[in-house]
Amino acid sequence: MDFEIIIIGGSFAGQAAALQLARARRRVLLIDGGQPRNRFAQSSHGFLGQDGQAPSAIIATAKKQLAKYRTVEHCEGRATKARAVHDGFRVLLGDGSEVTSSRIILATGVRDALPDISGVKDRWGSSVLHCPYCHGYELNERPVGVLASSEIAFHQAMLVPDWGPTTLFTQGIFTPTPEQEAQLVARGVTIEPTPIAELLGTSPALEAVRLSDGRTVAISGLFIAPRTELTSDLAAQLGCKLEAGPLGPFIDVDLRQQSSVPGVFAAGDVASPIANATMAAAAGAMAAGSAHHSLIYGAGEHA
Ligand SMILES: Cc1cc2nc3c(=O)[nH]c(=O)nc-3n(C[C@H](O)[C@H](O)[C@H](O)COP(=O)(O)OP(=O)(O)OC[C@H]3O[C@@H](n4cnc5c(N)ncnc54)[C@H](O)[C@@H]3O)c2cc1C
Repeated sequence: MDFEIIIIGGSFAGQAAALQLARARRRVLLIDGGQPRNRFAQSSHGFLGQDGQAPSAIIATAKKQLAKYRTVEHCEGRATKARAVHDGFRVLLGDGSEVTSSRIILATGVRDALPDISGVKDRWGSSVLHCPYCHGYELNERPVGVLASSEIAFHQAMLVPDWGPTTLFTQGIFTPTPEQEAQLVARGVTIEPTPIAELLGTSPALEAVRLSDGRTVAISGLFIAPRTELTSDLAAQLGCKLEAGPLGPFIDVDLRQQSSVPGVFAAGDVASPIANATMAAAAGAMAAGSAHHSLIYGAGEHA
């Protein structure tokens, strides 16, 4: 085998996994396409010791620290295919070359399918946001909106008033039950059934939304819970079982980040219905420990 472990995806989960394995002096290949999910945001929040740093700066620091470990090789580009072979796995790279390993860690993340409303895409990560914990504080308690794309909008709208006066735009997609409506009203949420037609203001800032009946509602931030999809079909190629999450599919893993295929581990957004950078890094560290143990005890076995 060329490597003991190939990690596909080199962002929060993949770098964290590589660091653990590097420190065990294991031969690792870290393959990364360089497209982390939060690349649209100017700053990342809530990651211990790195609050307010640019996402790219956090990853650059991690890469620099990893570079001193000689047993880790880096490959910039995408893995396009992966399959099981005798005693391990074979991975095809974008340049047509192939590499083999005894174990694989998938840390390939997810991508967001944004609603098709004028002004959403160019504000994504600035004033159109998915997570109040990540970016709500910076809105400075100004009026905000929640745009419904599913029933999850109810839960977002219940939370978001802690960050600013909230309007729930149901967008013709989600109608709160009378009980939900009472809960929302008790949280001070205004419910707006007329759909948003466009976002207004000098992008990436948001000043208001125009509704389809011509009215405008002033807001500084709009929270959405987009559907997510896996960034590649490597998990399917390897035969990993997927779970149907509330926002999109993710790889089914156990508490040790072991997938349904012995020897294939998965970590980060690709393997969790709820994720942020901290959770992705923690899962990466766990996947690395589990992959390392499995090299010692055998695939599918643990200490
Ligand atoms: C706009 C936005 C802002 C966010 N802000 C925050 C924040 O402030 N704080 C916070 O904690 N969380 C934030 N998040 C969530 C955070 O981005 C994710 O939870 C985190 O990036 C997940 O890390 P990951 O390593 O699992 O995946 P990602 O960071 O998405 O990285 C996956 C990596 O795998 C690579 N990859 C994919 N397929 C392949 C392949 N076939 N071959 C090789 N490489 C591949 C990609 O190029 C990418 O580099 C934000 C998310 C969004 C959308």
